[in-house]
Amino acid sequence: MKALKRMSEFAAALVLLLLSLTFRLRAEDTGGSVSQAATDKKPAITLDSITPTLFFTHGPEGLRQVYDVTVRNVGSAKTAKLVARWQSEEALCDLGTIAAGVSKHRVCIPDVRRNTATEFVLQSGNRVHDRRTINRRPARHWVVHLVHLSHHDVGYTHLPDDVLRLHASFFDSILENCEKTKDWPEEARFRWTVEEFFSLDAFLRTDPPAEKVEQLVRYIKGGQIEVTALFGNEILEYCSHEELVRLMYPSFAFKRRHGIEITTAVHNDIPGCTWGLASMLAGAGVKHLAVGIPAWYFRGSEATLWDQEECLSLKTPGGFWWEGPDGRRVFFWYNPWEPYRLAESSLSKRLSQWEKDGYPFDLVCLMIRGRTDNSPPSMAIAEAAKAWNAKWAYPRLVTATQGQFLAAFEEKFGERLKTLRGDLPGTDYPVCGTCTPRETALARRTTNLLLSAEKLRTASGNVSTEPLSEAYRQLLFADEHCWGGTRPVGHWQELMWNQKRAYTYRAALAAEKALELPVGAVALAEDGPHVVVFNPLSWQRSGVVQRTVAASIPHEEACREVLDFQRPFDLLDVTTGQPVPCQCTGLSYFDEPEVARPGGPTQALIFAAEDLPADGYKTYRVVPRRSPARIPANVRVAARQLENRFWRAEFDRESGVWGRLFDKSLRRELIDREAPHGFGEVIVRQSRTGKEHLAEWNDVELVESGPVFAKYRRRGHVLGLPGLWQEIVFYHALKRIDVNYRMVRDATPGVEVYVAFPLAVEEPRFRFEGPGSVIEPLVDQLPGSCTDYYGVGHWADVHNDRFGVVFSPHDAPMVELGGLFPGAVSQAHHGWMYPGYGHPFLKVGELKRSHIYSLISYSNFTTNFLNVQPNEFCVRYSLGTHEGDWRKAQAWRFGWGAMQPPLATFVKGPKRGRLGATGSFYRLDQPNVILLTVKPAEDGRGHIARMFETEGRRTEVGFSTLAFDFRKARQTSPVEEDGRPLPVADGAVRVTIEPYGMATIRLQ
Ligand SMILES: [Zn+2]
Repeated sequence: MKALKRMSEFAAALVLLLLSLTFRLRAEDTGGSVSQAATDKKPAITLDSITPTLFFTHGPEGLRQVYDVTVRNVGSAKTAKLVARWQSEEALCDLGTIAAGVSKHRVCIPDVRRNTATEFVLQSGNRVHDRRTINRRPARHWVVHLVHLSHHDVGYTHLPDDVLRLHASFFDSILENCEKTKDWPEEARFRWTVEEFFSLDAFLRTDPPAEKVEQLVRYIKGGQIEVTALFGNEILEYCSHEELVRLMYPSFAFKRRHGIEITTAVHNDIPGCTWGLASMLAGAGVKHLAVGIPAWYFRGSEATLWDQEECLSLKTPGGFWWEGPDGRRVFFWYNPWEPYRLAESSLSKRLSQWEKDGYPFDLVCLMIRGRTDNSPPSMAIAEAAKAWNAKWAYPRLVTATQGQFLAAFEEKFGERLKTLRGDLPGTDYPVCGTCTPRETALARRTTNLLLSAEKLRTASGNVSTEPLSEAYRQLLFADEHCWGGTRPVGHWQELMWNQKRAYTYRAALAAEKALELPVGAVALAEDGPHVVVFNPLSWQRSGVVQRTVAASIPHEEACREVLDFQRPFDLLDVTTGQPVPCQCTGLSYFDEPEVARPGGPTQALIFAAEDLPADGYKTYRVVPRRSPARIPANVRVAARQLENRFWRAEFDRESGVWGRLFDKSLRRELIDREAPHGFGEVIVRQSRTGKEHLAEWNDVELVESGPVFAKYRRRGHVLGLPGLWQEIVFYHALKRIDVNYRMVRDATPGVEVYVAFPLAVEEPRFRFEGPGSVIEPLVDQLPGSCTDYYGVGHWADVHNDRFGVVFSPHDAPMVELGGLFPGAVSQAHHGWMYPGYGHPFLKVGELKRSHIYSLISYSNFTTNFLNVQPNEFCVRYSLGTHEGDWRKAQAWRFGWGAMQPPLATFVKGPKRGRLGATGSFYRLDQPNVILLTVKPAEDGRGHIARMFETEGRRTEVGFSTLAFDFRKARQTSPVEEDGRPLPVADGAVRVTIEPYGMATIRLQ
């Protein structure tokens, strides 16, 4: 086809006018094949349809669009041509011989860039058989970036060990393919996006020859391989502030070593994304976050990932600017995560569908990841692009890394994108990860221990980063999104899970090993055993100390006579000389694994350590007890009643629950007696029917009562939990109640376990700590996203203007706020659906009740997670109250205090040391800032300190330390890359932190 002639604009208009009169022109606005026919008498051949396609070719005079033409011939075979006329132009298309019947033909007609009425005339010889006029609209010049990666599952398709080996082995063919195509046209070269850094980490751990690593780096720098920021596809809700940052440490260490760039993070297969990630990535200079979420997860459910009107349609790809809690933003790209085929028909169908579904751009990417998760790299994509582009001008296929696509898209369309703020709570993985409550709790405890261990280790003067890096590496594998295999039952699943859980135990052991209390430098003036208590938090506080003996630690072994608990003793606060109430408590192996060892400890020392210095320590001396230990005068303890200076509590024998909990200073009852469930009630809901079973309990028993605390215990059972113990502990020196459970889970499948906390707070508002964020549910989340449950860090608070209750779930991360909801795990993972499942999420203003439900365990899966996990585990909660709202009361300090307990050790005096009886290693001079870590710098240049602002106020904070000297300081990114210098005066450095922001500084 070619343009045959040109006429003046006037002539073109005239021709069109005549056509419209003669042939009743009715140009349709569809750009499609709807048309009007005008025929000569009894035509033998007619035009059935003329349909534009997405395809364009290069012609001698420019671009030509491909049209599909269907012709019907009721006569004998004859040759025919199609003449297209528009404005001053004409194109002649030879259709060749038209066989009898219906036949299809493809014709190419010069491209138009505005709506253009075009007449198509079907001729055979000199006879005109048919005419059609259609309105040709400018078709998109699609540019399709092909992003090739392998979805990284640590497990699922193969055993976790094999997955690491497999991904490591892929790098040979990745490099071969890069080499093979390095001279191909730029747009067809083999390109590979390393979806998660753990695969590259696994490759580097095989100790590859230096030249291979050099080759790899060359291709990264040349743009054929992209290294992305995150270590794995994590259950982000399970991460601590610090863990979220450590998710980027391995990739950035590689970046520093080899001088490459990291601009993109990829997080795939997981419906949900924690808000703090936006700030964290932006802080590290990562501009783009690509999130692949299959839309089919939510098919058939009223509740989906988000409000598709206000955020993005789930039917098409799309992007928005995602603003983090501190105001920094990343470009969030949603990939629909479908399987794509590069055949002409399927690609054209896919792109047309996206056009119909409202995708407004002509640039898009297809994430191509092979047949299954953990698929190998393939040359097929580069080959397809090469062959395709030789044939078609558009759609143009361009092999790209994820970052190359996002940079191109941002440049072209970035300004047109909206900005959204807020959390995207996970519907699936954070809930499903509760199927193994024992290990999920251990990983959670380990995140806290690592925070304490790192700061205290640095205070001890230890400069090796390796033990902590390794502990975090294991923890990142533990919090990765794969639990087991594709089939959730059978030996393969068991083995899969055993490998997975090993990461949790390795992380816990590594954290314990890394913990080094800086006791050596503490001087003890007096003779005899002492207890040195360390406060790993950056404010002065009181806390419960519990300590048994660790016979393996020599300085503790020297205090064995105390630790046998044979003779009564008192503890004297060395600074004040005053005795401190203490209590010995019996241990079960459940509290302390050491107890299970023949000859291991059976008792622990418990006391409330008051006014512990910020990030510091305090010393207590053990002296023989002269008079019997006394319970404070204001404490009254009876079988089912307790009163101390904070509470009046009463167990209601008839209804079998703690029915009253009166806060004496607030003068309020804290339990909502009208609530559907009692305080501390254990509820088991059957996944198949939604039927709730309540635990049956024996009568409550006062099992311990002493100067420090009173403990009540009862035993019960319920479907799925043949063994169930509840303990409630009231402390006399701290305004804190602990509610603890020990649960023995049997093999009953399809049950969900909850604990109810029906609190009585009128006009309640909630806040909770997310990773790198503080979140008000419904308000600080993307419109229409999940409100059935939230992953909570150290605390959740329910309050009004006058008072509030702070809730700290030590072991079980998921809470339901305002009620017990049906759940929203998508069809990708859930098995049964009971009535009400997939209900619409709450809207702002609908969260009216101050009830908190803790989700302990969920077991209703068709894949990946474990339905049956007979086990024994412990679940603990701490509750406190405050006047005023959460911010005024610094409710967050309660949660951190409960979950980061003081750490104590026994040491025999006298001994020399450079430190006195009490002191601080690090100091912050602002009360709303948490010191997350102080550590040796990864690159060996001084120390790194990191802080988090926790009340939403822009704050200038000063940091000083006794642990090491520094004369200069710099702000760095979260991943320790240098920024601007910071002022140092009088041994303190000052830095400004954005509201809910993080500041990382280097001290040298
Ligand atoms: Zn996956």
